[in-house]
Amino acid sequence: MVEIRKDYFSDKLSVVTGERSSRNPPRPRAEHSAKCPFCPGNEEMTPPSDLALVKMGDALVKQSDSEGDIIKGWVVRAFLNKNPIVSPSAPASYGEYPHYSEPAIGYHYIVVATPKHDDSFPKIDIEQWTNILATVQDKVRWLYAQRGVSYVLTFINSGKGSGATVDHPHLQIVTIPRLPPVVESEAVTVQNSLNELGVCPMCQVVASESGGPRQIISTDFYIAFAPWVSSHSYEFWIYPKKHQTSILKLSQKELMDLALLLRSTLGGMSKVLGDQGFNLVIHSSSEKKTTKQIHWHIEVYPRASQWSGLELGAGIFVNEISPEAAAEQLGAASRKELAQMVGIT
Ligand SMILES: [Zn+2]
Ligand SMILES: [Zn+2]
Repeated sequence: MVEIRKDYFSDKLSVVTGERSSRNPPRPRAEHSAKCPFCPGNEEMTPPSDLALVKMGDALVKQSDSEGDIIKGWVVRAFLNKNPIVSPSAPASYGEYPHYSEPAIGYHYIVVATPKHDDSFPKIDIEQWTNILATVQDKVRWLYAQRGVSYVLTFINSGKGSGATVDHPHLQIVTIPRLPPVVESEAVTVQNSLNELGVCPMCQVVASESGGPRQIISTDFYIAFAPWVSSHSYEFWIYPKKHQTSILKLSQKELMDLALLLRSTLGGMSKVLGDQGFNLVIHSSSEKKTTKQIHWHIEVYPRASQWSGLELGAGIFVNEISPEAAAEQLGAASRKELAQMVGIT
């Protein structure tokens, strides 16, 4: 059974995928280098890449695998997930209320973030982060041009407790045939505030957190802060300072600045929390539902603690450290990382 189901009452969705071999527990790290499907030399273990960034002199060139010709020497490599949660060939399956369901049709991409197996997101350099972000932009733009795609979600599962099944640093891009409930709810809030008050509530949050006790770090174009209500201890969000609806709108200068901010904050996070698993999600506006726009942003959830009955059953989140104290620690560590980066470049 492969289908998308909607809750009896709320907008909550589930994707029923059946057996997926990729969900097997990750193998011990030592076994990886030879067998890792994302490592250079093992490209045959994955579907062919339709976007491989290759360095030629000072320039980066977009290439793709073709029959019997696998692109080598890539710095970033994107291909369809072998074990997708949505697929262009998902069986047609519709259900009516109260057992509402629809086909899980879509695309599920893997973007391998680096050829180096033992690299990690907190250590990847700014140039490579810029390459990763440019690849994501490229793939997201292409996916929005495909039929049946309403939303494109980009996220990272990294390390223990994150749901990652392959250690090699990678991102995932999943398309959904409707707006995900979390983004829908953000869009409704933004739309109501724009209609009633003429202001974007997310711009107001950025203004109120700037320079305050929850700010972690700020660059030319972006601010990182610990949110007033955090669903995980040490959670932080990254927002463009100026109202911007989509990651597809970022200029090269903004991409490089975002790379700097991501490298500094994730580097800072790993200094504070050690080798801790985390999830990172990009919330960007749908390019299809133009009336449901948000102020795009990134949310990072460190997975130091497990959710309990209170979180799961009541939607009340226990923070073992206050967002203010988390921001102070993350801020000090991230500023140090930033100073080193700027010193190097
Ligand atoms: Zn690998
Ligand atoms: Zn805004």
